[in-house]
Amino acid sequence: MAGEPQNDCLFCKIVAGEIPATIVRETETTVAFRDINPQAPTHVLVIPKAHYENAAELAAGAPQLAADVLAETKAVADEEKLDSYRLVFNTGSGAGQTVWHAHAHVLGGRGLQWPPG
Ligand code: 5GP
Repeated sequence: MAGEPQNDCLFCKIVAGEIPATIVRETETTVAFRDINPQAPTHVLVIPKAHYENAAELAAGAPQLAADVLAETKAVADEEKLDSYRLVFNTGSGAGQTVWHAHAHVLGGRGLQWPPG
């Protein structure tokens, strides 16, 4: 059920401390940690602690929590001293989503091309 921890969810396990991650920030409602396979000098994932499948489900089911995630992306960018950066919410397998717990990618520290692939 949306919002409830899922036993088979990798990011729920990171929230629970069952799988290690390099956590850079944590709030009451969110966690930010470094991506295990970074695509830029800064590549941090910001997730809600509560389980929502993706950004669409998060936005529809918990808009304040979606705002918390967005606010945390800015906090990460500030801490990482990023002047320019990209936020990505891959939503659905066709867009490249591989982990089914909503997450924002914060990418920066190098030039980024547009449009993305
Ligand atoms: P997606 O493809 O769903 O938008 O992004 C999932 C991201 O999670 C990928 O960038 C992938 O590298 C990252 N990831 C997958 N497994 C782990 C893990 O165990 N730890 C961390 N820190 N990141 C992970």
